[in-house]
Amino acid sequence: MLAPIKFDDASNPAHALPPPDGDTRPDERFDELTRLARRHFSVTLALVMRVDGERQELSSCDGLAADRVFVHTPRGLSFCRQAVPGDESHADDLLVIPDTLADNRVHDHPLVVDNPCIRSYAGCPLRNENGETLGVFCLLDTSPRELDDAERECLRDFARLAEAILARDQSAAQLKEDQDALSKREKRMALAIAGSGTGIWDRNIVTNEIHYSAGWKAILGYADWELTNQLNDSYQRVHPDDLAYVQAAIQAHFDRKTPSYDVEHRIQCKDGSYKWISSRGKVVSRDGTGQPLRMIGTTTDITAMRAMSERLQENVDLITSLTNEVPGLVFQYQLLPDGESFFSYASAGIEEIYELTPQQVAANAAVINTIVHPDDLAAYRASLEISAANLTPWHLEYRVELPRQGLRWRQGDAQPRRLEDGGTLWHGFITDVTERKRIESELKEFATIDSLTQLPNRRHFMVQIEAELARIRHAKEGYAAILMCDLDHFKLINDTWGHAVGDRTLRHFASILQAELGAQGIAGRVGGEEFAVMLPNADLIDARAFAERMQRRMVEAPLAECDWRIALTVSIGIAVMNAADATADAPLSRSDAALYRAKERGRNRIECH
Ligand code: GH3
Ligand code: MG
Ligand code: MG
Repeated sequence: MLAPIKFDDASNPAHALPPPDGDTRPDERFDELTRLARRHFSVTLALVMRVDGERQELSSCDGLAADRVFVHTPRGLSFCRQAVPGDESHADDLLVIPDTLADNRVHDHPLVVDNPCIRSYAGCPLRNENGETLGVFCLLDTSPRELDDAERECLRDFARLAEAILARDQSAAQLKEDQDALSKREKRMALAIAGSGTGIWDRNIVTNEIHYSAGWKAILGYADWELTNQLNDSYQRVHPDDLAYVQAAIQAHFDRKTPSYDVEHRIQCKDGSYKWISSRGKVVSRDGTGQPLRMIGTTTDITAMRAMSERLQENVDLITSLTNEVPGLVFQYQLLPDGESFFSYASAGIEEIYELTPQQVAANAAVINTIVHPDDLAAYRASLEISAANLTPWHLEYRVELPRQGLRWRQGDAQPRRLEDGGTLWHGFITDVTERKRIESELKEFATIDSLTQLPNRRHFMVQIEAELARIRHAKEGYAAILMCDLDHFKLINDTWGHAVGDRTLRHFASILQAELGAQGIAGRVGGEEFAVMLPNADLIDARAFAERMQRRMVEAPLAECDWRIALTVSIGIAVMNAADATADAPLSRSDAALYRAKERGRNRIECH
């Protein structure tokens, strides 16, 4: 672009001239003007000199010896500089030098003193609309010459015509600059769009034509010159399973039911494979009746994203099926700060564990409170509260009452985690432990109950009298009677009637003993045909009375075996346990000693220690 210039040394035109190479740049657009001007004014030379910064360029020159003057006179035509006043307020002024030899500014100029001996000069500046000087239109003659007003006006007219040509240059330059900027912006945009893997489409809804950007075609593997712009061809590329909803989404937007068109679907690439794309668009113009005319949109390749989300879904499916295969209920349970709770995840096992569906507890878990056995509900609630308060693992065995399965045992284990809102989240599982509980209680029975007589065994009996002794010792007062009972001549029954009858004899005695005892005390089978009894708060007299009642019962109820009645007798030794006893073994051996004496003294007797 041409910029205005100012000359700093008007008194010495030869000073600071532009380099010779820059002096000649022909521009034939001015040639007619200079030719006309030279003829009109009948001067030796007419020329257009352009200035640009410190350069000056001879754009057009008509006249004798022009070549010689300007090619072989490297310092150029410095007169022209005089036509470019440094002071813009004189912008309109022509510079007319009627006689160069009489003018101090130029009288020693080489073009004046040497060939072609220029004697007169007239120049009119060429300016753009901003008043910036672009050059000068000048006339030179080898004779002295003055210009009258009409001639001056005419010179100005020539200059205006030359300015018009320059103005075209300038607007063309401006246009080019604008275009360059635009294309730069476009290129940046195109790069950004290409980089984002986004394509652009523009659909004419009336003609059913659709134009795709190069980036759009590239997504599908096509070159820019491939693909038609027919909408029907586009629909051919949409996966057959997706076409219906794609078209429905477009129609919905055409009908203004949606603010924009936004679908994900599969589309066929050039190589026949399918890609997942996200297509978004908007109707940008409608006719007066609201019918859509044009829709523009973008397309993004989301194949990789889809693949990732599919892999994610596969993982979720895997976890879900794993948790569904695990026997029992795998869960994520959440307690809100307001006390409400729900199962954010419940595996299929909830149907067996609680006879509920995951949906029934997804919003609220309160229904569980109606399922947990009333006797265990308080413990159930407390266990969760403690786990939430201390963030300690939740562990609980509890009973549930279920419509189909009835009373069942459940065991729950979970790890709590505090949530940001102050709530608690547990991950854990609940299993059916009914069978284990049954076996456990059976084992407990095995361990404590004699299977033949259903009385506590020796160990369990000892545990209980130890507990009673501890109670007495703790109170430092009180007592209990300990009775040792041994069937008389039991071996003889075995030998006479057989072992099975012996067993029935033992059961018979145990049932008499249990019936007589009731809830007064505890009895146990402590040996083969030996039984022990503890009567809390009973002294020797109470115990003897009990022993006598036992003996009477045995007389009254002999063992009935077929048609036989087998008379049984028992010898009983009694001792009293009190706070002085360090262990329960002591009173037990005292009553054993009394029993020994009863045997010694003839059996079917009661002896006290
Ligand atoms: P005594 O009057 O001195 O007590 O004589 P006894 O025969 O009752 O005593 P003894 O200690 O000589 O014999 C006890 C017998 O009890 C021996 C054993 O075979 C029998 N016995 C122990 N346990 C069982 C049992 O579980 N079933 C049966 N049928 N017999 C048992
Ligand atoms: Mg015996
Ligand atoms: Mg015995």
